[in-house]
Amino acid sequence: MDLLIEGISSAPTAHSFRAGAAWRKRHLALGMAPGEPVVGDLSVALEVRRSQGDLHIEGAVQSVVEVLCSRCLLRSQTPFSERFRLLLEPAGAQRPSDPDAARALESDGFCLDEHFRSGCFQGNALRLDRFIAEFVILSLPLQPLCRADCAGLCPGCGADRNHQACACAATRSDSPFAILSGRYGLPPDHIEGEGEAR
Ligand SMILES: [Zn+2]
Ligand SMILES: [Zn+2]
Repeated sequence: MDLLIEGISSAPTAHSFRAGAAWRKRHLALGMAPGEPVVGDLSVALEVRRSQGDLHIEGAVQSVVEVLCSRCLLRSQTPFSERFRLLLEPAGAQRPSDPDAARALESDGFCLDEHFRSGCFQGNALRLDRFIAEFVILSLPLQPLCRADCAGLCPGCGADRNHQACACAATRSDSPFAILSGRYGLPPDHIEGEGEAR
């Protein structure tokens, strides 16, 4: 995924890349069990222009990710679509003080601040692979859901409440002391019994 800088002018130009299984294995392998979260080819679309020497890049990354629902633990595949925007200044004679950024500038032709929004570049091409891989990893959902209204697993009996109603909700105590039992770890009848004995 090399973006050649030569020829980029103030008029925006479109560039696109497609990355398949081999690219994912090389750049996106997270070693997660039971499988990698990104399961689809990546399509990367860029719109690039140059203004007073600076590079303005707008990008969109699409793929398919396999997520483990944080409520019901169902694995499901869902579209991944995220956008980014970068502003890169010519590095000139300056070198980033951060050693990682300095290394990135040498190896990738550009480096970014910690917010992934701005940075500097040098040379004739931006090697985007590492940035795209990090962007995808950081954009993966932290608490994925199989669907927005997933009812999740019952904390009492573990039943998947999307598919079956369990008895836990029905036997939940209607006693006004129920909240105390939750707070003190006592069964509600124990609390009520003490009250009656007074
Ligand atoms: Zn779910
Ligand atoms: Zn239950």
